[in-house]
Amino acid sequence: MGSPEVTTALDWQSMNITVAGLGVSGISAARALAGLGASVTVVDGGSSEAHLERAASLEGEGISVRLADAETLPEGTDLVVTSPGWKPGSPLFQAAAEAGVDVVGDVEIAWRLRGPDAAPWLAITGTNGKTTTTQMLASILAAAGLRTAAVGNIGTPIVDVVQEGDDAYDVLAVELSSYQLHWAPSLRAHSAAVLNLAPDHLDWHGSMEAYAADKGRIYEGNRVACVYNMADKVTEDLVRGADVEEGCRAVGFTLGTPGPSQLGVVEGILVDRAFVEDRHKQAQELAEIADVNPPAPHNIANALAAAALARAFGVPAAAVRDGLRAFRPDAHRIQHVADVDRVAYIDDSKATNTHAAEASLAAYESIVWIAGGLAKGATFDELVAKSAKRLRGVVLFGADRALIREALARHAPEVPVVDLDRTDTGAMLAAVREAARLSDPGDTVLLAPACASMDMFANYNKRGDAFAEAVRELGAVDG
Ligand code: ADP
Repeated sequence: MGSPEVTTALDWQSMNITVAGLGVSGISAARALAGLGASVTVVDGGSSEAHLERAASLEGEGISVRLADAETLPEGTDLVVTSPGWKPGSPLFQAAAEAGVDVVGDVEIAWRLRGPDAAPWLAITGTNGKTTTTQMLASILAAAGLRTAAVGNIGTPIVDVVQEGDDAYDVLAVELSSYQLHWAPSLRAHSAAVLNLAPDHLDWHGSMEAYAADKGRIYEGNRVACVYNMADKVTEDLVRGADVEEGCRAVGFTLGTPGPSQLGVVEGILVDRAFVEDRHKQAQELAEIADVNPPAPHNIANALAAAALARAFGVPAAAVRDGLRAFRPDAHRIQHVADVDRVAYIDDSKATNTHAAEASLAAYESIVWIAGGLAKGATFDELVAKSAKRLRGVVLFGADRALIREALARHAPEVPVVDLDRTDTGAMLAAVREAARLSDPGDTVLLAPACASMDMFANYNKRGDAFAEAVRELGAVDG
């Protein structure tokens, strides 16, 4: 099976490309490829009104669309372009494999569309913290006066960004999901970071090994630095296993004191001992912990990873500080909603898995924890055992709350638990009221559900909005 290194317009013009999926990334890939002269067919299993409307608009642009069949490979296909969410074992991809046809994702297409002078990519992956770290990195690069954007798994589709031309940017901060990495075999970043690895999306990848291997692809062919997390040995193993360009360095980040070739923290200061002239003797101060928003431990780790990539690109220390100061996290990521009766209410609705919830629980001393939802096959023993000493009380709702309740009974039997026994949207107001009742001045009420939201809410944004609304009502009553 050949792996076509398609880079010239002529190559694209001779190709029949099948795009899997009529969603945002599929449509953007289809348009870009058709614009280059390829013959494009988009296939999708759906046939709803929305599908028909999108199909009509694409067909008006000369792109073929086949609805209600996501499985058979259109005759004459030279290359399949997949969308996120399509599992590797999908029948369409099996058919492609049998026909000797490559399957690639939108990131691979973007990579192949870059011209010879295109902006280098600083790439970021990990189970948690990708979006935050990518945005921090973009903020730092912008503070250094570089033309940049946070792209990939966020923002404008990456294919569109690359098509703005080689001159449009100096450097890109690229967030990559494990799915995107799986389907991007020829991607070669300037430098890359894997923030952490915990079991997630295993139903898609098949196993933890396969998931880790896909994440590890981000290091392949790195030119300047492979950035890894010293608290997460798997990330270091992935660097060791990667085939990189000669001279590319392994750079660790740690919340402790950094050694040579590392970034870390010394007495409240973020310090670089990797990108200095003499890393055995010198350390460069980058920023203070107070410059990181919010200054929770996991987020300081994110800031160090972003700083390492920026420094690998040659950004001065002052820009790291300015960029971190200017950065504001997206909503629902450890967002301070309000103080009511000297209790802080924090919305971390984006903590949709146990690894993320563990990070936010580690950020506060005395917590009334609101949790529950869809567990996605997770277990809660480790999370509860590690967080037990910080819990003043727990309020549970959602479909899989019994799993958390049982873990609490095993590892934190003395902590009061209110099981709301509800999965309706209104349960949030009841949860916030119960949490207020369990809390004392100085405590933090933390929504960090450790679960997906879809049993009760449309998505994690809506869940966070409901929390904020409930806190406002509480404040109005009490105040
Ligand atoms: P992603 O893009 O990987 O989903 P986000 O930056 O959106 O990550 O953060 C998602 C959630 O993960 C946050 O709300 C927080 O609870 C948690 N989180 C962020 N950074 C880390 C980290 N470095 N380690 C563990 N959990 C984290």
